[in-house]
Amino acid sequence: MKFSHKIIERIKNSICKKDIEEGIYLHEPFFKGSNVNEYLNNCIESGWVSSSGKFVSEFENLIKEFTGAKYAIAVTNGTVALRLALYLVGVRTNNEVIIPPLSFVATANAISHLGAYPHFVDIESESLGLSPEALDKRLNDVVEKRGKELFNKLSGRKISAVVPVHVFGLPAKINEIKEICLKWGLPLVEDSAEALGSKVFSDSKSIHCGCFGDIGILSFNGNKIITTGGGGALITNNEEYGSLAKHLSTTAKVEHPWDFYHDKIGWNDRLPNINAALGCAQMENLNSKLEAKRTLHSLFKNNFQDIKEIEIIKEAHNCQSNYWLVTLRLMGNSNIEKIRNSILHNAHEAKIFLRPSWILLNTLPMYKKSYSGDLSEAINQSKRLINLPSSPQLVNHL
Ligand SMILES: *Cc1c(COP(=O)(O)O)cnc(C)c1O
Repeated sequence: MKFSHKIIERIKNSICKKDIEEGIYLHEPFFKGSNVNEYLNNCIESGWVSSSGKFVSEFENLIKEFTGAKYAIAVTNGTVALRLALYLVGVRTNNEVIIPPLSFVATANAISHLGAYPHFVDIESESLGLSPEALDKRLNDVVEKRGKELFNKLSGRKISAVVPVHVFGLPAKINEIKEICLKWGLPLVEDSAEALGSKVFSDSKSIHCGCFGDIGILSFNGNKIITTGGGGALITNNEEYGSLAKHLSTTAKVEHPWDFYHDKIGWNDRLPNINAALGCAQMENLNSKLEAKRTLHSLFKNNFQDIKEIEIIKEAHNCQSNYWLVTLRLMGNSNIEKIRNSILHNAHEAKIFLRPSWILLNTLPMYKKSYSGDLSEAINQSKRLINLPSSPQLVNHL
């Protein structure tokens, strides 16, 4: 049997889906067994569908409880959450922000939305996240210190933050990255859009992704582990960032029974109540989803065990991934892209809609002139990765 057909057979054997005719997507929303209808009815009957209402604060409380963050601010999407987080830590026009090239385009776009520029630094192969070594090396290579501020001596621009990404839910080497950020005095914003439920263990306690840096962000887009239709959140332990995030995302209106007094130029970024209602219903079932996703990961792992050209990527030893997307890595050294493309092609014909990892951001037209360090590991890894169908409902018991 052709290699790519063998892979597709193994994928089919790993998942439970009676009717493959409709197609199998990477990650689909799942509401069965939740209180979603009751909560939505409550919004509609009470008229509280828009930018305030009880589900918004309830959703924020559930996020705080689940992640352990002191503050959670729900906003309209993950991109907006990132833009607001970057603004809060001080990113302004003409600054540079360090990010890995292997991410969804929103990581770079949020920087551009503030008039700033992404500056790309390489990843490491275990977590697919920003490499702490490459980060430190790049800062050593390009930084000129002026007082406490860091400038890229090649561009003359201020470097004002670092944004690692927890790719596909795999926690990045965040303790090491944090240490480097502290050493250089750089704010750390974690793009945890894909990592709700992912944790790192240190000193016998676990810390949720997004809670290491100054601010973390989450996304509740339709394909994420839980969805509010569209939505996102900032999480932080910093009281000032927490209250400013809420203030700036609600048009900077100062609370008053009737006056429209706004003390800053704010945004209209708050998550509507009707979206938050979806979020509350899903947070209540999150643990069972996470369990199902771990089961799915081990089913894939077992079913691919004997194929030496393939690795199912697993969490690092001190980490727990939410396994948002299970990722297959092609291990060989020749014709990797050709093999990957033939797997993708044949899978799509069989209506299993596998996806490669993203095209590296530094090669997209709007980012190809960006400053970047050596990106050889990102280039190497991006050719090898295929994301597998990862919806929790693909496991028998849901
Ligand atoms: C989904 C995602 C975002 C953006 O979230 P939206 O809610 O779609 O705006 C940002 N970064 C990463 C890595 C993502 O996967």
